[in-house]
Amino acid sequence: MEWYALLIIPIIIFLVIVTRTANFKPTQFPEMKKKHEIDEKRVVESLSQMIQFKTVSNLDEKKVDRAEFKKFRDFLKERFPKVSEVSEYSEHEAGVLFFIKGESDEKPIVFMSHYDVVPVSGDWIHNPFSGKIDEKTVYGRGALDTKSSLNAVMESVEHALANGKTFKNDLYLAFSGDEEVFGPSAPSIVNYLKEKGIKPYMVLDEGGAIVSKMFPGVSQKAAVVGIAEKGFLNIKLTAHSKGGHASTPPKNTPITDLSKAVIALNKNKQFKLKMTYPVRQLFESLAPHSKSLGIKVLFANLWLFLPVVKLIAKKTGGEFLSMFRTTQAFTLAEGSEAINVLPSTASIGVNYRLRQGETSNQVIQKIKKVIKNHNIEVETTAVCEASTVSLVDEGFNMLQKAICQTWPDVIVAPYLMVATTDSRHYHEICERVYKFSPMDLSKADLAKIHGIDEDITIDNVVRGVNFYLNLIDQL
Ligand SMILES: [Zn+2]
Repeated sequence: MEWYALLIIPIIIFLVIVTRTANFKPTQFPEMKKKHEIDEKRVVESLSQMIQFKTVSNLDEKKVDRAEFKKFRDFLKERFPKVSEVSEYSEHEAGVLFFIKGESDEKPIVFMSHYDVVPVSGDWIHNPFSGKIDEKTVYGRGALDTKSSLNAVMESVEHALANGKTFKNDLYLAFSGDEEVFGPSAPSIVNYLKEKGIKPYMVLDEGGAIVSKMFPGVSQKAAVVGIAEKGFLNIKLTAHSKGGHASTPPKNTPITDLSKAVIALNKNKQFKLKMTYPVRQLFESLAPHSKSLGIKVLFANLWLFLPVVKLIAKKTGGEFLSMFRTTQAFTLAEGSEAINVLPSTASIGVNYRLRQGETSNQVIQKIKKVIKNHNIEVETTAVCEASTVSLVDEGFNMLQKAICQTWPDVIVAPYLMVATTDSRHYHEICERVYKFSPMDLSKADLAKIHGIDEDITIDNVVRGVNFYLNLIDQL
């Protein structure tokens, strides 16, 4: 073999990289802005009133004011008379369901949201349940998460009905009342649909939003739409001993056993990084828009550079890394109740977020393999497997169109949600479960979700309604 034959392979690789990078172009969408005549004052007022109901969820049922939940449900029926008139209304645990009959029952659509909110703490500038409105903003708990999307659903359907809209397909408006505490309303609505043999064509719930600086070198905003959710697995590790006095301690105690287990788990390399379909979809939608040549070369050639991307994920950590692998967080720890008493049992909670392709069973096996200590009990306290991945097809395109009509300059990208939503329950009956909250959110806004001084811009409130109307136009 001649020496120059050795050059052939690198040259081919080089040419493939160059060609793939050159062809790595963003999909262009025609300008298609579409705005509806909305009574903005009314829409904002509706949200403000919704915020004023103290529908606060709490794991401690004694702290929940059920009367407020009831008042909220009554408010919905009275504030949206057209919806009430044409729909069949039912309640499922704290959840509510409005069913609007369409011309066909073949491709039912579900718009989801939840009307419970998380408790309030800290000092707020405005009373969190005032629903105060000023020139640009509506204030209060639930403004972002997620009475805004509930309001957008109700206002848009009310508006459409008032304008004589008839729906081609059955439409369900499904709002849970205990999403924040993983409560039973969404599962019971799903059960109800299952019993009736209803398989939604598409489900839309809260989730991703319009965000800035989502990807290196991309200056446009991105509308990220969740097409899958990671699962979760809560594990309790418990170690036992005979207890005793701290003045005569044995070498190994439940605390030392647990510590060894935690260190071993923390060091382990069992949870491999994997580029799953939703993550690949996200990169393929965003990376072509990057102004950085390096980024384009990298992501246009994942066939070669995937290990580099994984390495970057490991170095970056945070949400970027969590999209690639099952994560593990050590949380609740319990042991002795006094400084001079050895605990007879000690335990620690571990919260896993399961990536697609890794089941809770596999994770439990890995935990046991890493700990290698039969004296430590491994107990599952809660589990929800990673969701299936929704189709990115004409159903997704409808959503994409509505987003582009409402926010013409954004890039729409499917992605993987690392947090959970109630829509996870719908994956078993629906192939297109999308998670998107129609709001343009800054970093500061994101910090207000479950935080203090939650508020929403009036622009977001109005566009939210516009977004649903643009979607409804296609239904
Ligand atoms: Zn929420």
